[in-house]
Amino acid sequence: MQHTSDIRKLVRPGVRDLSAYNAKEIPCRVKLDANESPYSAFSNQLSAFSNKKIFKTLNRYPDPEAKGLKSALSKNLKIRPENILVGNGSDELIYYLITTFGGPILYPVPTFSMYGIIAKALGEKDIAIPLDGEFDIDMERTMSAVKRERPKLIFLSSPNNPTGNCFSTERILKIIEITSLVSRHPSLVVVDEAYQPFSSEKGFLPLLGDYTNLVIMRTLSKIGFAGLRVGFLIADPIIINEVNKVRLPFNLNSYSQSIAAAALRNRKETALNIKLIVSERERLFNELEKIKGIIPYPSEANFILLRVKNADKIYKGLLKKGVLVRNMKGIADGCLRVTVGTKKENDIFLKTVRKVLG
Ligand code: PMP
Repeated sequence: MQHTSDIRKLVRPGVRDLSAYNAKEIPCRVKLDANESPYSAFSNQLSAFSNKKIFKTLNRYPDPEAKGLKSALSKNLKIRPENILVGNGSDELIYYLITTFGGPILYPVPTFSMYGIIAKALGEKDIAIPLDGEFDIDMERTMSAVKRERPKLIFLSSPNNPTGNCFSTERILKIIEITSLVSRHPSLVVVDEAYQPFSSEKGFLPLLGDYTNLVIMRTLSKIGFAGLRVGFLIADPIIINEVNKVRLPFNLNSYSQSIAAAALRNRKETALNIKLIVSERERLFNELEKIKGIIPYPSEANFILLRVKNADKIYKGLLKKGVLVRNMKGIADGCLRVTVGTKKENDIFLKTVRKVLG
């Protein structure tokens, strides 16, 4: 007799051994687990959309080239539309990059888990190099892995999720230079700037013209629009054209294109919210430093990584009282990651964590 478990034998080995990305909804009062913005920017203008053309043309497919959105991004970032590819979140763009260029894929750890998950799902080799003691790129190990393994893609999340710091600019530049397309081990270096808007560093956009093997990835998810699923790649048009070959024709729906473009044209509210989050991050960090039993790590992002004595127990204690943070077990053992919320949410978190610690 056939058994449903026999289906697993048909699954490709790389996929069979994977676990699904853990994005379950856990009921809570204060949600500080997913690095979202606590502010739904633009919400008071959204009613204006109900009269828009988009609602009268839902029988049509979305613009496959997302021209309006690309034009808004182009003005915003002062780059040409030919340098941009938009995706259904940057997750989709990671998929497309690995589909286009293949492996090996190299990245430092701990970092954003999707680089490794997608590489495995697509049957590509992934190479994880531990960060050094300062959470920066370990140059010796990275350089020797580059020379030995010749990765096609190197993913660098800067600011890095979950450690919160930016990697040193000189180290990133050295990697970009050593893997230049005319070197003996050419590679594309993808600087994932999902959290750049919260950082005091300039980021790599100004350097785009200097290095053909530099790819920059950004997202609207962390600055108030996670529900839209809009991410974008910025790179040399030759790279954009190659990745565009594997893009699904209508990857970004009409609503997302339209709302994201409008949000980008009207950045005041978003910019203000980013400022609020940065100032709350500093306050939260200072308060956490005063709590015995917690070591917070400095952050350039919209979250803070905390080292605590009994991470599992504290995670569960917080959740019991309705406060959801991320338990980094298996990624950064002994650590929790807390997203910066509103002042009120951060105060509830601080009060609760003090209670749970006893
Ligand atoms: N890159 C990093 C470093 C992230 O932390 C995340 C979200 N957790 C993403 C990319 C994915 O973002 P998006 O919502 O655009 O898919």
